[in-house]
Amino acid sequence: MRILIVEDDKPLADGLLRTLRRSGYAVDHAGTGELALRACKEEHYDLVVLDIGLPGIDGFEVLKQLREDNSVGSILVLTASGAETDRVSGLDLGADDYVTKPFSLPELEARVRAVLRRSQAVHGPTMRIGGLSLNAKARRAYIGEKELELTPREWGVLEYLIPRAGQVVSKDQMLQALCSWDVSLTPNAIEVYVSRLRGKLEEAGIRIRTVRGFGYMVEDPDGRRAS
Ligand code: CA
Repeated sequence: MRILIVEDDKPLADGLLRTLRRSGYAVDHAGTGELALRACKEEHYDLVVLDIGLPGIDGFEVLKQLREDNSVGSILVLTASGAETDRVSGLDLGADDYVTKPFSLPELEARVRAVLRRSQAVHGPTMRIGGLSLNAKARRAYIGEKELELTPREWGVLEYLIPRAGQVVSKDQMLQALCSWDVSLTPNAIEVYVSRLRGKLEEAGIRIRTVRGFGYMVEDPDGRRAS
């Protein structure tokens, strides 16, 4: 789980970084809205903890852009005490939750855990291999930040192959697994989808090897299995 903390108050940001890292999250920090938007273009964050009161472009603007780009998982906003309208605007703009300052670090950490748990329940866990990530519940695949354009059939083939990376799977197994949603699927059709997927996955460094006369095997560039 990767988290970005967007907070210009240095001591508070340091405390958040320390606390969340100690809990095992990978945590980055951005001190301004501009830096936050740049970081989110380069890296996928499962959660952004976003202060509303920022120098330059404020938290609302950052929130709006992040939601427009659809590039991050959940967003937890930090609002000043008494600013009721900030909370409402934050939620309206697509924040998943808010925490009002001042808060204790354990309290914030509990909220972070709750938001991440909720988002996992809604979107399902993300499967990653090489540069590719798959969200089974949303039926979407990404290379880095970029969403792959897949037809439903291509998605079906990909969703079957990726969790089986490092194993040889036969075309028959694939047909059996995939036929429930497509009665007209043939071994030849599978070949076509696999060949299209090869082109689309190249950028992620993932190879689908043909095992002659049998089926396919997805090779992970890092030699790891999908996790
Ligand atoms: Ca601030």
